[in-house]
Amino acid sequence: MRGEIYIEKKDFKNLNKLRAEKNEPLFANPRNAAAGSLRQLDENITASRPLKFFAYSMVNTENAPTSQEALLKILNKWGFSTNTLSTLCHSLQDMLNYYEKTLTEREGLPYEIDGIVFKVNNISDQDKLGFVSRAPRWAIAHKFPAEQIETTIQKIRISVGRTGVLTPLAELDPVIVGGVTVSKATLHNQGEIKRKDIREGDRVLIQRAGDVIPQVIKSLGAKGKRHNPFSFPTTCPVCGSHVIQEKDEVALRCSGGLACQAQTLESLKHFVSKHAFNIDGLGGKRIDYLWEKKINLISFRHIYP
Ligand SMILES: [Zn+2]
Repeated sequence: MRGEIYIEKKDFKNLNKLRAEKNEPLFANPRNAAAGSLRQLDENITASRPLKFFAYSMVNTENAPTSQEALLKILNKWGFSTNTLSTLCHSLQDMLNYYEKTLTEREGLPYEIDGIVFKVNNISDQDKLGFVSRAPRWAIAHKFPAEQIETTIQKIRISVGRTGVLTPLAELDPVIVGGVTVSKATLHNQGEIKRKDIREGDRVLIQRAGDVIPQVIKSLGAKGKRHNPFSFPTTCPVCGSHVIQEKDEVALRCSGGLACQAQTLESLKHFVSKHAFNIDGLGGKRIDYLWEKKINLISFRHIYP
């Protein structure tokens, strides 16, 4: 049996509420929570999560129904839950109408969707069409446009990364985009802020596509008088070192190196992360804690230049 495992919006809310009470890290969205639940080594954890399942195909197709529609019906008769929104379309126009209809119903659904999938109904036609590597030629996803929402920029803050790159972040009036509360969005770099003329206090349009960090699409101006254009600092907001711009580089950098607390902490976090030494049980939060308590991290610094 094949299908889709998912978590409903209300179950996701409860799950995160429980995790917050237990001081456990929150899941970013239902999709991550469902995927993470399936990757557990301990099946008791998986079983404790509010997972649901829609069946949509059979792997062993011997004596199977001859159409997708009949297949869903028989799966349902056997007691599997199938998606009741599935429908048989007879023309391209039918398909596009179905897409538009689903788009308007999207908000009211108990679970999140990011588009719909069209499948060839006749199973023997599906078999004839076959696959290109792992992608079927008989099924195609039609994604919805990324959800865009209006909010206000409270403040533009500069974060300093592991290599000293200064990244502007917009602190936003919190809004819900695609079922997730968003209070920060990336502004990428100073060129982007200038090009889009984004200022503190502006009403802005933000967008969150998939699991990436939300981004500011454009400014809609301010309610009253606009703030002055944002000016990038000439010194690092963390350590006060000069900000430099390498030749042929867009990014501005703090010149402080490991004298800069932000660069040191980000280096340590990177060092223990799954991209580097993958040290279990030692993550960003703990590094911040050790640093705050002034517990000596110098030995790390020696092995990580
Ligand atoms: Zn610095």
